[in-house]
Amino acid sequence: MLYQRLAEAYEKIENTSGSLDKIAILAELLREAEASEIEKVIALTLGKLFPDWKGEPEIGIAEKMAVQVVAQAASVPDDEVKKVVKRLGDIGAAAEELLKSSVQMTLLSEELTVSRVFDTLYSVARASGSGSSKMKTSLLVGLLTEAQPLEARYIMRTVTGSLRLGLGHMMIVDSLALAFTGSRDNRSDIEHAFNLCSDLGYVARLLAEEGIEAVRSVSIEVGRPIRMMAAKKLSSPEEIMEKVGGRALVEYKYDGERIQAHKKGDEIVLFSRRQERITDQYPDVVEYVRDHVRTGSCIIEGEVVAYDPGTGETRPFQELMRRRRKFDIEEMTKEVPVRVFLFDVLYADGEDISVRPMLDRRSVLEKIVDKCEDIGLTVGEVTDSAERLREIFMTALDTGHEGIMAKAVHEGSRYQAGSRSWLWIKLKASYSEGMMDTLDLVVVGAFHGRGKRTGVYGAILAAVYDEDTDTFPTVCKIGTGFTDEMLEEFKRRLADYVLDARDPRVVSDLEADVWFEPRLVVEVVGDEVTISPTHPAGREKIGTGGLAIRFPRFTGRFRDDKNPTQATTVADLIDLFEMQRGLR
Ligand code: ATP
Repeated sequence: MLYQRLAEAYEKIENTSGSLDKIAILAELLREAEASEIEKVIALTLGKLFPDWKGEPEIGIAEKMAVQVVAQAASVPDDEVKKVVKRLGDIGAAAEELLKSSVQMTLLSEELTVSRVFDTLYSVARASGSGSSKMKTSLLVGLLTEAQPLEARYIMRTVTGSLRLGLGHMMIVDSLALAFTGSRDNRSDIEHAFNLCSDLGYVARLLAEEGIEAVRSVSIEVGRPIRMMAAKKLSSPEEIMEKVGGRALVEYKYDGERIQAHKKGDEIVLFSRRQERITDQYPDVVEYVRDHVRTGSCIIEGEVVAYDPGTGETRPFQELMRRRRKFDIEEMTKEVPVRVFLFDVLYADGEDISVRPMLDRRSVLEKIVDKCEDIGLTVGEVTDSAERLREIFMTALDTGHEGIMAKAVHEGSRYQAGSRSWLWIKLKASYSEGMMDTLDLVVVGAFHGRGKRTGVYGAILAAVYDEDTDTFPTVCKIGTGFTDEMLEEFKRRLADYVLDARDPRVVSDLEADVWFEPRLVVEVVGDEVTISPTHPAGREKIGTGGLAIRFPRFTGRFRDDKNPTQATTVADLIDLFEMQRGLR
């Protein structure tokens, strides 16, 4: 397939606002691609050559190098490129304009194929060590001199991570269903396969090459992360009991980082909630799993919690996040020691355990884990009494836990990869005290600070995630809860995400002073969910206005363990709103 075809489709998608139309345009493109190149088409469309968990290097070209590439390709000085970028607001548009007037173009250039673009970008990503900047630049200049102006627009956006077509994973799933099965009805099979293997390109190739049956038979594999199951929330023990079917495994809810450990012999890989490899952060956890899990191969899940070696008490989540530092890991393991509380097993010695009911899985886990101080199972008890659930909850709080997780134990209580269903329900202290639970919001914009806050942001514009449209509608402006250090930290963390204009996936009626790529997730508490004329979240469903958070405050917690698409959703917000009004 010619890259030109991709570029034309991207342009159409960019100029289309409706998600159904975007899905249809992409489906048409996918239908035309050869089965052997579909993986590359998906990768380029996602703006990522490989899924994160493969641990392949990323393209990540900095602005300065991007300017040099365009300057050399168009034979103009760097300053000229900078001027055009400033005027047009983006390096892609600048490359397009400058190449249109460049003489070098069109002479003998061959037409670019999807494979040629992908392979060159992969070489760029892999170039490392001394001389790699020169190498990257010359590879990209070579590509641009062969590109048509429109192709240059998208190549430059891809390499600078600013493609922003507004096409999330789930919209690509829809497009695949439409392209290869004729209707979106089969989307759930494709989504399920993706949830099991976390590799949309692979699922797409399988679908194109072998059809939907092959996709239905995708199974769990050690070494390939499974998208994690999540929990819903409720505030009444009686309701929880009813929802899970009258009987539950009630476990303490630990406040740490969730990990999925994959073990094959002595080889252990740890994945985060975002399906990233975090093995290097936890050499101690690797050791615990290697020494205390007695299987040839398995996939297990648990919570890693930091503790104080002096008192043995649990330490806050923020402490654990210090492990995210890439250096001094050895020292960090001493400073922030951790324990592991396992709560699930999805695979063991050749068998897919994820399809078994909860208590079966728990008993497999009991058998394979050799418990000790450092690694063991979550505290849990099976009960059919709401009163007992309440007691366990109180004891959980008394012993410093966040609350409880109530898990369904009936025949159908299998592990549901990638979904948030009523099979797991969490109850935390905050809801029982009549307060609203914390929300995880995505920072999409900011307003300049004045007076004491000059030089940092005075307020943050935050959004939820809309799963139906793959967009980020705003829900509040946050101006409180910040210490001076936090404001500095916001400024520093957001610097990498500053945009010249609103991201197409962000929906906002307010005009922020600065717009960001929707990347940073932060924890926020508010007083209640209200109907608002200024915030668009859920507006279509509510009718009378959008939903907003009243009196939002930053809790001080950056949710580095969450992707923006794992933030609080519009559906969560509607649930909360209805719960508040007593409709649920
Ligand atoms: P929260 O902010 O309440 O942790 P979340 O959106 O981060 O919510 P959820 O999936 O809704 O995550 O809540 C479940 C999380 O709680 C799990 O991802 C896991 O990290 C953690 N957890 C702690 N203890 C348990 C347990 N016993 N069983 C399952 N998950 C647990």
